[in-house]
Amino acid sequence: MSEDKVIVSNKGLVRADFNFWVGRYLDKFFDNLENKKVIGNKCLKCGAVFIPPRKICGKCNIVIPLEENWVDLPDSGTLMNYTITPYRVNDRTHRKAKNLLLGMVQIDGSNTSIVYRLLDLEPSDVKIGMKVKIEWAEKTKGDPSDIKGFVKM
Ligand SMILES: [Zn+2]
Repeated sequence: MSEDKVIVSNKGLVRADFNFWVGRYLDKFFDNLENKKVIGNKCLKCGAVFIPPRKICGKCNIVIPLEENWVDLPDSGTLMNYTITPYRVNDRTHRKAKNLLLGMVQIDGSNTSIVYRLLDLEPSDVKIGMKVKIEWAEKTKGDPSDIKGFVKM
């Protein structure tokens, strides 16, 4: 006895817009971004400061309570690394005619890096270790796009 099987194959991109709750730690982080403020949270044991904030320190494996150990941070940081790409951070399906600079920036007073565009810079101007600061979006929404990118200080 044979069993009929229908196999459908389709190659291509499927666009799926969706919303999900990011959790209480990131919720607090994004609420602050909306007000153009950067906060991180600090591990009670090792003192590491995380951006974005996290519930558990990966090094100490202990819970950082939601209610405490929040740290106000500046909008300045250090460029830890960078890359040049034709793709946008949030859309890797479309190439741009002009290459974009993406930087890993460690906000001053934190121990982790975040990835954003480097603005108003040519590749020849970029140096690892250079000081940069946040360029805020004109209209903030309480999401990652509130940080438009980083500019040279
Ligand atoms: Zn720790």
